[in-house]
Amino acid sequence: MKKFLIRTMVGFALIFVILFCITMFLEYKNKSNLLEEVKIEQIVEDGKIQVPATPSKVEVNYEFSQVYFYSGILINLSIPVLFYYFGGIEVIKKANFRKKIVEGGVLCILYGALSEILIFPKILFSSFYRAKLVGLSNQSFFDFLGDFAKGIGEDLLLTLPIAVIIYLIFINKKRWYIWVSAILVAISLVSNYVYPYIDEIENDLVDMEGGGLKDKILELSKDAGIENLEIKVIPKSHKTGSMNAYMTGIHNSRRIVFWDTTLNKLSDKEILSVAAHEMGHYKLNHIQKSMIFELIGIVLLILSIHILMTKNKGKDYRKIENIPKILLIINIISILIMPIESAYSRKAEVEADEFAMRITGDNLTNGLLELRFVESNLTPVDVNGLYKWLAYDHPTVKERIENSNNFKN
Ligand SMILES: [Zn+2]
Repeated sequence: MKKFLIRTMVGFALIFVILFCITMFLEYKNKSNLLEEVKIEQIVEDGKIQVPATPSKVEVNYEFSQVYFYSGILINLSIPVLFYYFGGIEVIKKANFRKKIVEGGVLCILYGALSEILIFPKILFSSFYRAKLVGLSNQSFFDFLGDFAKGIGEDLLLTLPIAVIIYLIFINKKRWYIWVSAILVAISLVSNYVYPYIDEIENDLVDMEGGGLKDKILELSKDAGIENLEIKVIPKSHKTGSMNAYMTGIHNSRRIVFWDTTLNKLSDKEILSVAAHEMGHYKLNHIQKSMIFELIGIVLLILSIHILMTKNKGKDYRKIENIPKILLIINIISILIMPIESAYSRKAEVEADEFAMRITGDNLTNGLLELRFVESNLTPVDVNGLYKWLAYDHPTVKERIENSNNFKN
């Protein structure tokens, strides 16, 4: 156990130092650009919005984001390998737990602890340090730590019991893949339904204040064929200046949620355009569709594990020492399907934009909104092909402006 802990701490220190050096280098290199205030002039000629050049501070933020994105992938890939080489499995085998449930519990906690410790530097530099540096975050260090700890607490409460059950099924049942697929499919269905309510409690969501703007949104939703639209607001301005809105839930748990920053910063016309986009997701059943993809993905993933492991280790592969290999397969497949997920999501976003432009009859605001997102969220105007392919679940600002310019009602 001692060896495992020491190696984990050395791994943590190494990742921390590497990311620290890269971050400091990028900060030093871009010192003057970081001070810039991002302001974009809206230029519209003959009804067409001019695609702006990426402001240098936005370019810096993009550079940072790429570094953390790719390092996150590397860290995630290395966790199962390191768990094996750091002796995580040996620790459990030596302890010789009589009950498999205890063995499963300790395995999940040890693996979870290693994952959290190794990924922490990346989250620290990306979500806290970078966000502060570019002026996207108002969070104090302790607030950030509190959020991180809250995430771990939720994992212990929700993910740990499920992971232990899956481990027990894996060890005890020959046809574990059928059982586990069924459980994961059920969890996915329930969590898509329940998520909005958990979100509501956890993030103190409130109903959108009544008044002229809400009436306008509800009127628009009726035009779009949505009855009884629920609109909630999530307080975010104490944490960030970024803007966002989203649609969650399935069936009657469906709702649109605005970050309060979005309502504070945008004009009524712009908010209506954002709301219309979210109504597009609602009306076009995007959550249900992506859920179906998710369910198919889960089943294919579980079956691939079974097939690959049988080929590799024979029929008798359901042993604790093979768990790191299985986790590595899961991580590799997850990365391989990222481009498919991103491409599907980008397609849904284009559809939601088109829906919004159709029901508002206002393609100009739909496009101009993108400039506001460049200013507020430091969203890059354009990104390179690989990054877009892997990580971009929205079309780029450039593409969205061009789509708005070319839209014909
Ligand atoms: Zn969207």
